[in-house]
Amino acid sequence: MLQFLDVVKSYGSGSTEVRAVTDVTLSVAPGEFVAVMGPSGCGKSTLLHLAGALEQPSAGRVLVNGKDLAEMTAPQHAELRRNDVGYVFQALNLIPALTAVENVMLPLELDGMATKQARVHATEALARVGLSHHVDRYPDDFSGGQRQRIAIARAVIGDRRLLLADEPTGALDTVNGDQVVELLSDLARNRGVAVVMVTHDPRFASWADRVVFIRDGRIVDETAPVFSDSDAPSVADLAPDLAPEVVR
Ligand code: ADP
Ligand code: MG
Repeated sequence: MLQFLDVVKSYGSGSTEVRAVTDVTLSVAPGEFVAVMGPSGCGKSTLLHLAGALEQPSAGRVLVNGKDLAEMTAPQHAELRRNDVGYVFQALNLIPALTAVENVMLPLELDGMATKQARVHATEALARVGLSHHVDRYPDDFSGGQRQRIAIARAVIGDRRLLLADEPTGALDTVNGDQVVELLSDLARNRGVAVVMVTHDPRFASWADRVVFIRDGRIVDETAPVFSDSDAPSVADLAPDLAPEVVR
């Protein structure tokens, strides 16, 4: 679903050049849940921007669903972001002036679906993330965890197959964070969504099938696939010398 082949991303040039990503090769299959960990400034967000066609690589290739993003036009990138790729950030994901259900409907309406039909789909999507009640309330009326679940419903509505989540639990406590990560895991397992989640927290990373460790823009280590049941080994078990360092 997502492939990076020897990807490099630099910002600026000459003496002000910053290498955000260096020689990254990575594949994420449909239904796979990959966590990305690493210190602040190591290039995690840049990786997600490249995957979402929000930035172009300086070298190497990024493929989404087998399509090379470099071979697509700007309108095709926009279409990809509208139909194939969902994005969830740490906070401020929702439009405060729209209700929960209106927020989730938005991508469908932007894509030309009639309001009535979009509302039916959005209501179902909210039910799937555990929010069947109060869908006509505004984001401010929900807890942080509920807001993230609404954002995830919107990010995957319309059958989008790649979900990019940049520290989606960053503003949440453990209980709400667990619910959000469990939901991401469920989307991967049961709906075949390829999920890439950036996190600082090994507790949340341990839900993933695979954990990729980044430092200074490079992949420095990767865990073997694990299963996200309660007996799953923690990241600390899998990478004892790395985990304590990258997690702060
Ligand atoms: P992370 O998400 O791991 O904290 P980022 O991907 O945001 O890291 O940033 C990686 C590096 O690239 C950092 O050194 C950051 O300052 C730099 N960087 C990110 N975006 C830009 C940009 N638009 N212009 C210049 N430098 C940037
Ligand atoms: Mg970041």
